[in-house]
Amino acid sequence: MVGALLLAGFGLYAQARLAGSAQARARTTDMVSSLPFFGSTPTPTPKPPPDSYPVAVQTPEVPNGVVAGACLAFNPTGVDLHHTFFIDPGHGGPDPGATAGSVQEKDLSLAVALQLKDQLRADGYRVVLARTADTSVAKLADSQVQNGVLTNSGVHLDALARIACANASHAEALVSIHFNAFNDPGVGGQETYYDDARDFAGDNLRLAKLLQSSLQASFNKAGWQVPDRGVLSDASTGNNGLTPEADAYGRLLELGPTKAGWNDHPTTMPGALVEPFFVSDPVEAQVASSPEGRRAIASGIEQALIGFASVPAPSPSAAAGG
Ligand SMILES: [Zn+2]
Repeated sequence: MVGALLLAGFGLYAQARLAGSAQARARTTDMVSSLPFFGSTPTPTPKPPPDSYPVAVQTPEVPNGVVAGACLAFNPTGVDLHHTFFIDPGHGGPDPGATAGSVQEKDLSLAVALQLKDQLRADGYRVVLARTADTSVAKLADSQVQNGVLTNSGVHLDALARIACANASHAEALVSIHFNAFNDPGVGGQETYYDDARDFAGDNLRLAKLLQSSLQASFNKAGWQVPDRGVLSDASTGNNGLTPEADAYGRLLELGPTKAGWNDHPTTMPGALVEPFFVSDPVEAQVASSPEGRRAIASGIEQALIGFASVPAPSPSAAAGG
């Protein structure tokens, strides 16, 4: 009941917003956890879902491996189409991502990923999830969580663990699920990031465009007019001032190219990062927290991946580094 009222209100709200002047393009602020943290409570070690199995993560950059419940594979539940997708629910554990009141990005991204996993399995795909509970992916050193907050070193290690899990999954595509935030609560909408510096940048762009259009179509089907903020290069995510190393790299670690000592073994498959809603927009935060919102996001990503898999890779170089 609350949901029905909410969603009806959202449609009107979004239409009214669209009728106004063109929105200023806000910078993404949540990508590298640049928002202030407010601490977190310890969570018990999760039990892996019974129908999953671990994917071995072996890379010198992640010496202690991953936590229980992280980097798990799920086989298809119906016909087996022999395709694998890697899904990364952004943030987790001591890293809440963007927060607005009781809404935390890490919870929204996980809920969407679990829903998406179920749908893709039913479609015939194998799915590997970077995490399945409210945890980091990497086993963190004690020094990497201070006062309940993930340090910059911890953020870096956790990203490397997600990359290593993606590569070990042998997926043909990866999608990282995040939610946006901005200091103006009136700014909302949906956007998708890709890396344009990889050998397989063309496939990255194709995936990002599919994600952007499929999410828009899914939202329209639900009756919501969510502002289309478009497909963006992750080159626009640099210079956030978090650390000199991150500034010098300037791209999203999970999508970006090799840089010695910072991203030695980058992801080997086409990928994109979606930001379906802004948690800093009260209406969008409520929709993102609702079962209807979660399903609409999952369905949009699902349709994009089905479309992506139906087109053969253009050349063997798609699996090369860079
Ligand atoms: Zn995020």
